[in-house]
Amino acid sequence: MTHIAVIGAGITGVTSAYCLARAGFEVSVLDRHRYPAMETSFANGGQLSASHTEVWNSVATLQKALRWMWHSDAPLLLNPAPSWHKYSWIAEFIAQIRHHDANSVATTRMAIEARQYLFAMAEAEGIAFDLEKRGILHLYHDAHTLAEAAAATRLLKQGGLERVAVTNEEIHQLEPTLTGQYAGGFFTESDSTGDIHQFTRGLARACERKGVTFYQDVQVVQAEASETGVALHWRAVNELGEFAAAAPPEVLACDAVLVCAGVGSRSLAQMLGDRVNVYPVKGYSITLHLDDARSRANAPWVSLLDEHAKIVTSRLGESRLRVAGTAEFNGENRDIRADRIAPLLQWVRENFDLETANAVPWAGLRPMMPNMMPVIQRGQRRRVYYNTGHGHLGWTLSAATAELVTALIASDAAVL
Ligand SMILES: Cc1cc2nc3c(=O)[nH]c(=O)nc-3n(C[C@H](O)[C@H](O)[C@H](O)COP(=O)(O)OP(=O)(O)OC[C@H]3O[C@@H](n4cnc5c(N)ncnc54)[C@H](O)[C@@H]3O)c2cc1C
Repeated sequence: MTHIAVIGAGITGVTSAYCLARAGFEVSVLDRHRYPAMETSFANGGQLSASHTEVWNSVATLQKALRWMWHSDAPLLLNPAPSWHKYSWIAEFIAQIRHHDANSVATTRMAIEARQYLFAMAEAEGIAFDLEKRGILHLYHDAHTLAEAAAATRLLKQGGLERVAVTNEEIHQLEPTLTGQYAGGFFTESDSTGDIHQFTRGLARACERKGVTFYQDVQVVQAEASETGVALHWRAVNELGEFAAAAPPEVLACDAVLVCAGVGSRSLAQMLGDRVNVYPVKGYSITLHLDDARSRANAPWVSLLDEHAKIVTSRLGESRLRVAGTAEFNGENRDIRADRIAPLLQWVRENFDLETANAVPWAGLRPMMPNMMPVIQRGQRRRVYYNTGHGHLGWTLSAATAELVTALIASDAAVL
């Protein structure tokens, strides 16, 4: 049986492993954490969001970034310190502005397609992940951004998505817990939300049932692909990512490798002779545990995106509310900064009558390509494949990209 090694047990790696195992491959998954879904797929915004697929490559985004640069509580923050990776990535991001419309439409199509695959996986494997099919409501505070959103709606429509304009009154009818006033909004009934960590862990268990082998607490330190096979050199790591001194490197031999390593994909691609220009765009979330009846009653059920604050919410069952946002360009830095968590808490207090004392903060690194499109492709060397770079939409898109990369590998199966 053809043996595929998947590097990374986040949402992209686990959905890929599942599809590959189902297609009849022998599959091994390697990850540097003790459990699947411990990095960016841990506590994200929760939105399965075809309505948030407009790529960020625009002059307006650049203008906002410059305006916000010196405000530590701004939704988008750029550390101006010199870094070749950061500035070359930004240059490529700017060069992609001309593809804004085409890439937005393509992402919308993929997001719509992904829904059916994700729901089918959950149903087939009996995975509970606090799925809420109540739609996503985008909120706008002024006429200008509302008009910009109307233009984006036309692009989403080209991609096959219907979202409807709603008035301030209709916003409050859709989500009665909201206390703010708005210029208007857009509602996408077909969007949904769920817990990415629960889903990924549940699917990983389903993978094991299908015979997938998980190597956890192991870091791939070297990868070599030749005409005859792939050798992955790995070392055991502890919770801090430190190598166990006594443990010598080991090698996993396989027929092909699939890189699904989130922000680790860039360095692995370099080892394999490819350039995959993923940049770590940091974001933050808080998870509010709704322990009292007042908080449970006053927390929203419909998923929200506040366009001014760039904050999203997802209700994760009766007793949790996830609030996420911010984009920070500051390298591979995982610090949870108090001054970046504060705006999320402030936003909740301004908009809802909720207890926020037991909010659990988190930070994650979005693996973002300059064109904001996932990379689903062959490497330059035979036996090398990528399914990575899903940026701010990995939860939304992974079920579709896993199917795509599995079809790609299956089409090469005869020569692997
Ligand atoms: C604040 C925030 C909010 C978000 N909200 C949403 C949302 O609402 N909707 C949405 O669709 N998306 C959202 N996203 C994006 C989404 O979470 C990510 O796109 C997705 O989790 C990325 O998954 P991944 O599998 O590519 O990466 P990860 O989940 O990071 O998995 C990669 C894995 O590779 C492993 N790895 C890397 N290098 C190595 C190595 N050398 N050896 C061994 N293992 C290695 C890591 O340990 C990790 O487990 C959000 C992200 C953030 C940060």
